[in-house]
Amino acid sequence: MNPGKAERERDGLTDSFGRRFRYLRLSITEVCNFRCIYCLPNGYGRDPQAQFLSLEEVRRLVAGFAGLGVTKVRLTGGEPSVRPDLPAILAATAEAPGITRVAMTTNGWRLGDRIDQWREAGLTHLNVSVDSLDRETFTWLTGHDRLPDILDGIDRAIDLDLGVKVNAVLLRDGFGTTIGTFAEWLRGRPTTVRFIELMRTLDNVDVFERQHLDGSAVRTWLTERGWTPEPRRPEDGPAVEYSHPDYLGRFGLIAPYAEHFCDGCNRLRVTARGKLRLCLFGEGGVELRDLLGESVDPGLLETRILDALPTKARGHSLMMAQSGDLRRMADVGG
Ligand code: SAM
Repeated sequence: MNPGKAERERDGLTDSFGRRFRYLRLSITEVCNFRCIYCLPNGYGRDPQAQFLSLEEVRRLVAGFAGLGVTKVRLTGGEPSVRPDLPAILAATAEAPGITRVAMTTNGWRLGDRIDQWREAGLTHLNVSVDSLDRETFTWLTGHDRLPDILDGIDRAIDLDLGVKVNAVLLRDGFGTTIGTFAEWLRGRPTTVRFIELMRTLDNVDVFERQHLDGSAVRTWLTERGWTPEPRRPEDGPAVEYSHPDYLGRFGLIAPYAEHFCDGCNRLRVTARGKLRLCLFGEGGVELRDLLGESVDPGLLETRILDALPTKARGHSLMMAQSGDLRRMADVGG
C-alpha cells in the first residue's frame, strides 16, 4: 500500500536501507559530441529510433520528483548542451516548486559563450569534465583540441559565482603529472577538482584494464603534500574533499570501488528515454514516460516512483567486475 500525503511528506523518497533521496540526475540526451576513450571512443552512433524526453515531459517529471521531496536536479547526458532547448529545460527545472539547486554536468563545449544564458535560465551549479590540463593529452582523451576554450569558460563560470566543480576521471597513465598540474591550477582558483575512479562498463573493458587506478593513489599523493580531508556533513555526496592552507581550491575523490561507497547513495536517475534507473550499474529501469503525458494524473507518476523505490539494491557489484547492463556512461548519464 502506498503511503498517504502526510507520510510522503514526512518520509520523502526513502529506500529499504533508510537512504533518503532528494537528488535527481536527469539525462536529457544520449548524444555526445566528444569521443572520450573510456566512454564513446568511436563517437556517438546516431540511433534514429531514439526519442529523448521533450521539454514538457521534463517539466512534468521534475515536478513529480519535486512533489516527493527532491530539491536538487542535475541535468546530464550524453552532452546536455547539444540540446537547442537547453535554456528552456533549465528554466522549467528551476521553476518547479521545491527545486532549489539546478545543476548540470557538461564537457564545456562553447561554455564561455553560453554560461551567462544558462545562469539566467536558472542554472545554479556546474560540473565541467576535464581529465587533463595538458592540451595534447586532453585532445587524445576526448578527440577534440578544445582545452583552452573550456578553461576560459570555467573561469567565466567561477566569476559568475556559480558553484563550479571540475570532474576528472582518474587515469593511470601520467597520474603524477596530471594531479601536480591540477594542484597548481587550484592554487588561486576557488573551485574543486574531483577525481573519479574509472568505472568498468560493458564497452570499455580494455581501457578499464589499462587505465583504472585505485583512488588510494590520490589519497596518498595529497596527504604526502599536506592536504587534509574536510569533515563530512550528512548531506554530502560521495566525494571526500581535501584542502590545503596554501591553495584556494580543493581536491575531491569519488571512489566507487571503495567498500561501503553505496551506503551513502543519495541520488536517483532518470534516463533520456524516461526510465527510472535505481542504480547506475543495475539493469533495465522503471518506465515513467507513459505517465508524462499532458492528460495523465500526476499522482500516478508519484505512485510508480514510490512503488519502485523498495527494489533499489543495497549496492552495485563493480568490485566483482559486474557492470549490470551499462554499456557506456553516456547511455544513462554518468
Ligand atoms: N557530457 C557530459 C560531461 O562530459 O560531463 C555529461 C555526461 S558524462 C557521461 C558525465 C561524466 O561521466 C564525465 O565526467 C565523464 O568523464 C564521466 N565518465 C564517463 N564514463 C566514465 C567511466 N567509465 N568511469 C568514470 N567516469 C566516467
